[in-house]
Amino acid sequence: MNAKQIMESEEFKKCVDFHGHVCPGLVIGYKAANAGMDMLNEQRAEDEEIAAIVETDACCSDAVQVLTGCTFGKGNFIYKDYGKIAFTLFSRKTGQGVRIAIRPGAMELGDEHRALLQKVMGGSATLEERKKFETLHFEKSCRILDKPVEELFTITSAKEQIPAKARIEPSVICSCCKEPAMTSKTQKQGDKTLCRGCAAPE
Ligand SMILES: [Zn+2]
Ligand SMILES: [Zn+2]
Repeated sequence: MNAKQIMESEEFKKCVDFHGHVCPGLVIGYKAANAGMDMLNEQRAEDEEIAAIVETDACCSDAVQVLTGCTFGKGNFIYKDYGKIAFTLFSRKTGQGVRIAIRPGAMELGDEHRALLQKVMGGSATLEERKKFETLHFEKSCRILDKPVEELFTITSAKEQIPAKARIEPSVICSCCKEPAMTSKTQKQGDKTLCRGCAAPE
């Protein structure tokens, strides 16, 4: 499919609905998730058939949630705060895992685009500059959609083990705030049981 066909597809529209806008990041996530699902020969997960590890919390990870069906709330969407555009998908059925990582430069913006991005983010862009930025942003998204997967990513087998399935466990009452917390997330301090918020607030 070319960029136009992808943008008109139900799958892509779902990603845009979820994320809120079309952007190069969302498009990268779309390409990566699709490539990973193809490699694993998998369909979107209703339950926990697939697990995903994402190494960024940027735009692209939203497309990964929509396309793989791995979500934060199901516990099969694991976030590592590495600031890297890299995703590892696992199939519980086959035990296989695949890591899709962006190639250096694959998302590089042109000078004008980058300068406008700064202005838009900083809130100092004029209406005209904002419009120009939106055009460049959209064109960049289309160019990425049109690129072959191999040009965008390196794809290798997963180095890590499949993440454990989400656990449901009883809560315990924190001695300090008196709120229930998952037992495994609390810690003992003397004769007290403390939730993470009370033990070491961030
Ligand atoms: Zn975005
Ligand atoms: Zn507490």
